[in-house]
Amino acid sequence: MNLLKDLRDLFVPNRCLHCKTIIHKHQNFLCLSCSLQLSHTNFTDYNNNPLEKLFWGRVEIHQACSLYFYYKGSPIQTLLKELKYNGLQHFGTEAANTLIHELKETSRFSAIDMVVPVPLHPKKEKKRGYNQVETFGKTIATHLKAPYIRDALIKTANNKSQTKQTKEERHNSVKNMFKVNLKHNLNNKHILIVDDVLTTGATLLACINTLKNTYNVNISIITIACVV
Ligand SMILES: [Zn+2]
Repeated sequence: MNLLKDLRDLFVPNRCLHCKTIIHKHQNFLCLSCSLQLSHTNFTDYNNNPLEKLFWGRVEIHQACSLYFYYKGSPIQTLLKELKYNGLQHFGTEAANTLIHELKETSRFSAIDMVVPVPLHPKKEKKRGYNQVETFGKTIATHLKAPYIRDALIKTANNKSQTKQTKEERHNSVKNMFKVNLKHNLNNKHILIVDDVLTTGATLLACINTLKNTYNVNISIITIACVV
């Protein structure tokens, strides 16, 4: 079997997902040069970090962190696109494992009761076959010894891409887009919401407000990447 794999590797070389240069078959996703362009935020053990400040005056959260800074046209955008549209779920696991290394150095995220993903609309999830944040969220949840509740929040409207909307338009379009799933009682829990990328924070803010309108909860946030 290994011979077959070696033969396949000979004819179909492993390429960096971002710049397409040929990489060693054991290298994951990116060439060295593109890997070095991944920019760590170091927010994990950083109180009052810029991501947390984004929510100041809007909603009370406990802690927030993100693994990488997000830049358009950069390798992180490529990886997140592959994760979202081309089934690169292994990247979610790998990003979580990198973050877990950092979590081990801090007690900031140690008292989490459950991990809840930002949901996709059920129709979209069925079409895509998965929620892109699932491998990331489940790996973090296992590390925190907290259950991963995939359907604690339900997305009720199937919105179009938000990428061309202004910040204000985004906030208005996602404001009432989620509801809580009453089959789970989240009262008095510390909930960690996970998402792939935070850009304006509108989606996460809508999720937090939906939870807080129903329950007395503490909220923390972890995303793979963020724009701050
Ligand atoms: Zn590359």
